[in-house]
Amino acid sequence: MTVTVATLGFPRIGPRRELKTALERYWSGQSDQKALLAAAADLRATTWARQAALGADHVPSNDFSLYDQVLDTSVMVGAIPALYGWRGGPVSLDTYFAMARGDQGVTLAPCGHDHGPKTGVPAQEMTKWFDTNYHYLAPEVSRGQVFALSSTKPVDEFLEAKARGFHTRPVLLGPVTFLKLAKTKDADFAPISLLSALLPVYAEILKALAAAGADWVQIDEPCLALDLTDFERGELRRAYGALTHVAPGLRLMLANYFGGYGENLATAVNLPVDGVHLDLVRAPQDLERALSASRESLVLSLGVIDGRNIWRADLPVLLDRLEPVVARRGADRIVLAPSCSLLHAPIDLTLETAIDPEVRQWLAFAVQKIEELAVLAKALNTGRAAVAAELAASAEAAKARRVSAKIHDPAVAARLAVVTEGMARRSAAFDRRRAQQLRLPAFPTTTIGSFPQTEAVRKARSAHGKGELIDAAYESFLREETERAIRWQEEVGLDVLVHGEFERNDMVQYFGEQLSGFVFTKHAWVQSYGSRCVRPPILFGDVSRPKAMTVEWWRYAQSLTDRPVKGMLTGPVTILNWSFVRDDIPRSLACRQIALAIRDEVVDLEKAGARIIQIDEAALREGLPLRRADWDAYLAWAVECFRLTASGVADATQIHTHMCYSEFNDIIAAIGAMDADVISIETARSKMELLDAFADYAYPAEIGPGVYDIHSPRVPSVDEMTQLLIAAQARLSSGQLWVNPDCGLKTRKWPETKAAVANMVETARRAREALV
Ligand code: GLN
Ligand code: ZN
Repeated sequence: MTVTVATLGFPRIGPRRELKTALERYWSGQSDQKALLAAAADLRATTWARQAALGADHVPSNDFSLYDQVLDTSVMVGAIPALYGWRGGPVSLDTYFAMARGDQGVTLAPCGHDHGPKTGVPAQEMTKWFDTNYHYLAPEVSRGQVFALSSTKPVDEFLEAKARGFHTRPVLLGPVTFLKLAKTKDADFAPISLLSALLPVYAEILKALAAAGADWVQIDEPCLALDLTDFERGELRRAYGALTHVAPGLRLMLANYFGGYGENLATAVNLPVDGVHLDLVRAPQDLERALSASRESLVLSLGVIDGRNIWRADLPVLLDRLEPVVARRGADRIVLAPSCSLLHAPIDLTLETAIDPEVRQWLAFAVQKIEELAVLAKALNTGRAAVAAELAASAEAAKARRVSAKIHDPAVAARLAVVTEGMARRSAAFDRRRAQQLRLPAFPTTTIGSFPQTEAVRKARSAHGKGELIDAAYESFLREETERAIRWQEEVGLDVLVHGEFERNDMVQYFGEQLSGFVFTKHAWVQSYGSRCVRPPILFGDVSRPKAMTVEWWRYAQSLTDRPVKGMLTGPVTILNWSFVRDDIPRSLACRQIALAIRDEVVDLEKAGARIIQIDEAALREGLPLRRADWDAYLAWAVECFRLTASGVADATQIHTHMCYSEFNDIIAAIGAMDADVISIETARSKMELLDAFADYAYPAEIGPGVYDIHSPRVPSVDEMTQLLIAAQARLSSGQLWVNPDCGLKTRKWPETKAAVANMVETARRAREALV
């Protein structure tokens, strides 16, 4: 009878991003399917072994994915839209990746069940996973959707682990969350109405898992962290009523994370499941609530270690909380876990040998978090004395962090103290500002900032990082890239140019590295989508800007051309949301500190002569709390921070902002309140649907709705972009519209970028012609 340890899920990308390498080699034709699948199997094997060795009792399987676990679920249940050409039977890797990334589709499979993707299919819609920076592919379902078990991946991976000696706890995305995340093109149709059709597929997979020897299955229903309707809560009861007893001896652990259960708690703990997971980092209050509201036999999985952040825990403090719970509930009914899957944490702190040692001792990555859980479990099972040294070290590190002089900068506090409300207001309203800003043709064309980060760019950066390329050589390489980009933009006929961001490794990291208060890592990658990973900076202390960060690059680019070059910055809310943020002050305060630092940069760009400055807030919406009751407070400080950043300039300076992967309906008033002169947004995949929010709100300023989906190598035709622009004109006045891609082009290659941007410029030219 002991407390056990679960991990809920582990990063799949690999400590050295082995999965990224394997995927990209496969996609570029440098390796074949066999090599890709072998690399994936290797990663799974090491990951299982590692978690078991670290002390995890419930090692997950099926948390691995070649691209995305939601896509895997769509494939598992056969929710594959007709355009991918699938006719039942096993789903080929080509179809899978076509759903993930779109496909130019030159090859059609000779025959068999899966006819492979049709030519030129777009990818499925990608969107953010709850409030994380992980992106999933939205399931697409239609009225009368037929589901059928179309992949046995969960069983295959369970058996694969078993063959290697690991008894795993398979992870499934639950049916209610799956349907809640699903999109449909059908009017008056709610995907949740498909629950009855979907449940038999889940029953089938659960039976198959039981037959393969699984005893526990983890079913993730993070929709429980959202505001649910009574109907949806009823559907959860119906789903688990149907799924709980499909296979004798099979036990279900229902996992919710990224927040508390709120009003859904009674529903969750009364479902006929065998265990319920609680995110006690985001919702510590759920512990007492769950203990008192649930039956004695319900296993509680206590998410006490922060799966979303990198701070080391104070283990003795946690033990003070846990010991009475174990006494009350019984050790065998307590599982210790991270608050959510470790997918969102970097893998291993021991790889970070260069990080400031003082800061380093305050950190814990996925591996260290499992170690912390193991120490807690040991203390609970055999007494604190058994792990006295570990506990003392943990408490010491927590104390060292609290009192460190590295964290508090009196100058930052002094500056914050004299911020006035007026500093967050432009002097004139939009109409009056517009009259003073640059004159541009109708449908001005521009891009969002970055151009392809080619092999050469990455090689040069990495050589420079390793000291193999001296500063001067790296500089001149970057200057050449920038000059080429400027020349090409002039040739292709863009109206507002960008320098291309060749010097930036990542839109947040680049700034984090130049601000004080941040440390950055070498290997702390976190998956963003597919093979794309980011290395979020670690915000550990008060933030300030020692010197200008982007002005020289802007000045150089502008010196090459008579056309306007946009200054290009990342906004404070995005820097905050894409960093690992300190947990010792409120997020709003950390954000204000960043806002002041970026404001200085905006002012310096203007001084250098920039007439247009873009402040990207790609992550503003994803910081939106999951529950509506918390929205207003977040939006108020987020908008205020953006305005504080943007309002240090004259009315004649045009402020752009950019957002991607956002659903705007809910936050359109806040976007209006940001008071940017121009906003560019991601709209191509949604076919301009996202613009409805702007139209309904009567958004007063200018908008660049993306006419080109940049997350796929596919080159959209002029006709296709024209259709989108027409759809935009149906919603907004032509005088408001800019023409641009959905987002930056850094993940693309030059040939497709050039072709697509040329088509985009031609689209704008035709639209101008049609105006007169
Ligand atoms: N300026 C950034 C770029 O083009 C914006 C990226 C983003 O919004 N994610 O890369
Ligand atoms: Zn973007």
